[in-house]
Amino acid sequence: MVEWNIQSRGHVCHACGEAFGDGQPYHTLLLDARGNYERLDVCERCWAAEYRPGAADRSGFVSHWQGVYEIPAARPEPIQKETAESLLRKLVERNHPADAAATFILAVMLERKRILKVKDQLRREGRRVFVYEHARTGDAFTIADPDLHLDQLEEVQRDVSRLLEQGAAAFEPGGATAPAVPASGEANAVEGGTADVREPGDPPAAGG
Ligand SMILES: [Zn+2]
Repeated sequence: MVEWNIQSRGHVCHACGEAFGDGQPYHTLLLDARGNYERLDVCERCWAAEYRPGAADRSGFVSHWQGVYEIPAARPEPIQKETAESLLRKLVERNHPADAAATFILAVMLERKRILKVKDQLRREGRRVFVYEHARTGDAFTIADPDLHLDQLEEVQRDVSRLLEQGAAAFEPGGATAPAVPASGEANAVEGGTADVREPGDPPAAGG
């Protein structure tokens, strides 16, 4: 199964093909299509007429949420500096098991900055999976919870800081970038997104 995944928000209704207008509410269905996530964005009318009845009984149903479409602003791209967001996108696209902890920590950081919003929490094959939506672009991120232990957090945060300084090229494909994560649910240090995650440059936490 795919551990992490990004699905862009559609610009037209999947059912009727009509373009979404600025500020228009839409519904998103996340489905499991043979082990891969598939995202459908539909307008309210099509949702009510074709999708809402029995949506959760639909084959492969994973999640549903509602959003508001925003027309993407044409903004000039600044010189690309590695940010928590660009790094998260690179790690998700690479989908390497060794990145599990760093990927999760980056998502928690972005949630705290309100760049990502949690839309759903699922259990998939015994693991907790968070579904995030990007507040501005509407991209959906599915991120598996690596069940980090408290004593692993410091090392993972060091890895993330190093990556943010050096960029994703800092670590070779296949290199050990995160500590091995034992499969145990106890001492879950990041329950509910309350992990003490700081970015480089933030003031140190009192009593750290
Ligand atoms: Zn429609």
